[in-house]
Amino acid sequence: MKWNIAVLPGDGVGTEVMAEGKKALQAVGKKYGQEFQFQTGIVGGAAIDSCGVALPADVVPMCKRSHAVLFGAVGGPKWDNPSAQVRPEQAILGLRKGLNLYANLRPVQVYPVLANATSLKPEVIRGVDIMVVRELTGGLYFGRPQRRWTSARGRQAVDTLRYSEKEIERVLHTGFELARMRSKKLASVDKANILESSRLWREMAAEIATEYPDVQVEHILVDTAAMRLVRAPTSFDVIVTENMFGDILTDEASVLGGSMGMMASASLGGSASALGPSRRRVRRLGMYEPIHGTAPDIAGQNKANPIGMIRSVALMLRYSLGLYKEADAVETAVRSVLEAGYRTADIAGVGERSIGTREMGDRIAASLS
Ligand code: NAD
Repeated sequence: MKWNIAVLPGDGVGTEVMAEGKKALQAVGKKYGQEFQFQTGIVGGAAIDSCGVALPADVVPMCKRSHAVLFGAVGGPKWDNPSAQVRPEQAILGLRKGLNLYANLRPVQVYPVLANATSLKPEVIRGVDIMVVRELTGGLYFGRPQRRWTSARGRQAVDTLRYSEKEIERVLHTGFELARMRSKKLASVDKANILESSRLWREMAAEIATEYPDVQVEHILVDTAAMRLVRAPTSFDVIVTENMFGDILTDEASVLGGSMGMMASASLGGSASALGPSRRRVRRLGMYEPIHGTAPDIAGQNKANPIGMIRSVALMLRYSLGLYKEADAVETAVRSVLEAGYRTADIAGVGERSIGTREMGDRIAASLS
């Protein structure tokens, strides 16, 4: 089958890791008889330089015409003026909004061969395999009013944490569907002892749980969840939570994986039920990207770890294209190259030899062939 993939490399190491992601995709396509056609869009700082905006008007329509979107990273010192009207990050927010990508998935896995590469004890992180689902388009980051003012009592500011039933429902369904595809365990994270929006969240999680009697649900307060993530991370499987809690917990969880360069993510729109195994072939538009930024300190030096991007390709194969054995093959290729001892600098131990971005990409592609 022919697949149209929108490719948005962005800036800095975004362009370097994207080249390796495409390489892995072509290799797995060749092996399994799938054809991938790429349409490339300019976003972020590169787009500001070429046409004055971070997200040119033709990019969202191009993504909508595609089966899935691969995104690198945007930003860098050249465009780092916080008071500028036009900023590279506007591309990310515009894409999330324009494509209605409301569920952000971040798998956190610890490869046994990298158990010593993190700051936590190997016995604590061995066997970690968590999927964090974060609500992406609601809550505190989007609620209005959001403003500052000065009164007789000095400077004041307000942000608004608002959620509608519909916004909560669709992301909870995503969490439950994923739990069904994995070990049927779901942790719903909230702050129901304090926040009204969290009480609504918990109430709805309990209601929706009745539709998934095979899934074991646990309601956890966000502070307890943050503690348990580093104390007993293997006690989690799927975690589902609202936007800001998810933002913080996913960064905390990424530490378990060893390096930013290893971590992949998926941002999904469409219907949550499209994930279910019974409807494997149903398309769900998604944007897939490594969690890291443009890494200006190593950009242009062939030092970036492309594995986060390549694992994002695997997520795309699984969740937007329904190509399960191809996704498994990409994940297996990554694991086998790591098991063979190859490391980029960020995951190499002291005195261990490291290889560059392109060689890591070549080895993973070769392992797929
Ligand atoms: P960063 O993720 O770019 O870098 C943080 C650290 O991780 C750096 O030491 C970097 O060298 C390292 N690192 C990142 N990716 C790596 C990789 N693939 N392999 C090996 N090491 C890697 O975060 P930052 O330095 O805070 O931000 C740099 C720029 O990226 C900023 O302009 C920021 O706004 C932007 N940014 C973009 C995104 C995105 O596009 N999604 C996300 C985060 C930051």
